Amino acid sequence: MLTGNKVRKLEFLAAEALRRECTVLVTAGALQSNHCRATAVVAAQLGLKCELILRGHEQELSGNYLLSRMLNAEITYVSRATTGDEMTVHLADAEKRWAERGEKALTIPIGGSDDVGIWGYIAAVEELSEDMHRNDLSRAAIVHATGSGGTQAGLNAGILLHEVDADVISYAVCDDKAYFNVKAQEDWSNLRARRPELPSAPIKTLTNDSYIGPGYGKAGDEIFDTLAELARLEGITLDPVYTGKAFHGLITDLASGVFASSASDIIFMHTGGVFGIFPHASAVEAALGRV
Ligand SMILES: *Cc1c(COP(=O)(O)O)cnc(C)c1O
Repeated sequence: MLTGNKVRKLEFLAAEALRRECTVLVTAGALQSNHCRATAVVAAQLGLKCELILRGHEQELSGNYLLSRMLNAEITYVSRATTGDEMTVHLADAEKRWAERGEKALTIPIGGSDDVGIWGYIAAVEELSEDMHRNDLSRAAIVHATGSGGTQAGLNAGILLHEVDADVISYAVCDDKAYFNVKAQEDWSNLRARRPELPSAPIKTLTNDSYIGPGYGKAGDEIFDTLAELARLEGITLDPVYTGKAFHGLITDLASGVFASSASDIIFMHTGGVFGIFPHASAVEAALGRV
């Protein structure tokens, strides 16, 4: 259950919680959030309490939602239309409620994307850089899905700090290019404010927002076809919310000659998300009949 890209951010966020002697982890997201499930796993493993503020209402258990319930997280349901700013208010309210109960909460923003979580992907680039050396790759395009922006910020900060010659191409699964370019830069400048010894250059961002489809958590048939095809060709699972959209964007852009990097080696960052398949079983079944 401790899988996916949020684990890399939570490694640093959990350390922050322990350093501050917190007793509760509180975070927010979609009902099927990978990040919320991963946070609940970390809390259980560390013996901390956990509250998840989820967009949606109590429903049939499946996917990440089933796991979050199994992990005994306290769940607060909010409207599906709740905005990011409203979630920030909900998180602050939750922190106060826990304080009244004599508990100290660490509130983690959506996706764990802040100046602490970003270290997860700065560290990931350090590993990646060693992998690249071992495989004689001197220059590469790193491709991944971007949703709350922290992975994107971390990867771009990572290639800057570890001097890796790479283009990071970020396929958006919600929100537009302008949003991500600002959000990633914001995470980076908040980090620099805490660590003035870091270089003052802005990070580079390259966001592609052409493959969001019908919206966050909703995918067209072409995404399910790509999922089904990659599973049978390579034994690799993609999910319809994140990796499926990024991978579909990558192969479509390559085929039409508009991929945003000239690097001949491409590294696809698989960010997890397998549990996101289960709430979409009927769409997967339909794809099996097509491909
Ligand atoms: C959250 C998530 C992403 C996006 O990462 P962000 O840092 O939120 O942009 C990509 N893939 C999967 C499977 C995720 O759960």
